[in-house]
Amino acid sequence: MLKVKNISFGYSSSSILEKLNFKLKRGENLAIIGESGSGKSTLLKLIYGEYDLNKGEIFWKDTKILGPKFNLVIGYDFMKYVTQEFDLMPYTTVEENIGKHLSRFFPEEKQKRTDELIKVVELQAFAKRKVKNLSGGQKQRVAIARALAKEPEILLLDEPFSHIDNFKKQSLRRNVFNYLKQNNITCLVATHDKHDVLGFSDEMIVLHHKKIIAKDTPENLYTHPKSPLIASFFGEFNTINGKLYYSNQLKIVADSDYKAVVKQSYFNGKNWLIETLFNGESLFIEHPNSIFENVEIYFEIQK
Ligand code: ADP
Ligand code: MG
Repeated sequence: MLKVKNISFGYSSSSILEKLNFKLKRGENLAIIGESGSGKSTLLKLIYGEYDLNKGEIFWKDTKILGPKFNLVIGYDFMKYVTQEFDLMPYTTVEENIGKHLSRFFPEEKQKRTDELIKVVELQAFAKRKVKNLSGGQKQRVAIARALAKEPEILLLDEPFSHIDNFKKQSLRRNVFNYLKQNNITCLVATHDKHDVLGFSDEMIVLHHKKIIAKDTPENLYTHPKSPLIASFFGEFNTINGKLYYSNQLKIVADSDYKAVVKQSYFNGKNWLIETLFNGESLFIEHPNSIFENVEIYFEIQK
């Protein structure tokens, strides 16, 4: 189990994270979300032992995670961290990068394991290619596979699919997160993409102003977003009488007490997002069709 106990940290005298507490069980998937600069990467680095904490402690099972002051070589065998920068060996092949830390004394095993991971990240066609000739997204996939090579107990992923195009993203997410679940690998994933979280994470924490402002299942946070920041992570939302509603919770009807004027319609694939003016402010409503500018509409709130 991962235990983060009352940790505080700053790169200099100004603090970045203050008094964070949470636990994570073996095999669970925890998403860390928050705006850019909220400290997601910093939190992962602290868990990895890359910096010394100002206060608090971090444990994986009974092992206390030590920073560079107390640990000569940063990192632990049971934990792998895929950074936003990947750190690959550019002049060697995809295969060689993935198998780098696997024993040369068991070549068959090594090849089997490498092939298995190449499949997880869907790079079969690129196995023999040098990493320097890959796209950013392909490099990111090599980095994920390499981190998994020696079966870590805990994996830290920093925006793992951010460089991967939409054609590949969905299946890759399913492959990687399913692989982690099947192998009981604990995972912390820092992300600002709701698709990395919904359907995969057991819990999520929201970082804001140095603190954890919410910790719950994705479902609970989606259904009851406690703040506009949390709602905005999941989708276009509106505030009506102090309450938050997603654009798909509002419905255009023939008549109601709520009247608005259409400003613009945006196609979003499944539906149209209709931007309207309501009480002098923009209000977003999902609707099956586009609507002309300046048309008056009525809407109701669906709970
Ligand atoms: P996120 O990953 O959520 O975008 P980061 O953890 O990268 O946020 O950054 C949190 C804050 O710490 C930011 O204000 C950033 O500028 C600062 N920061 C990040 N890395 C360093 C560093 N190596 N030295 C000093 N400040 C840093
Ligand atoms: Mg980051």
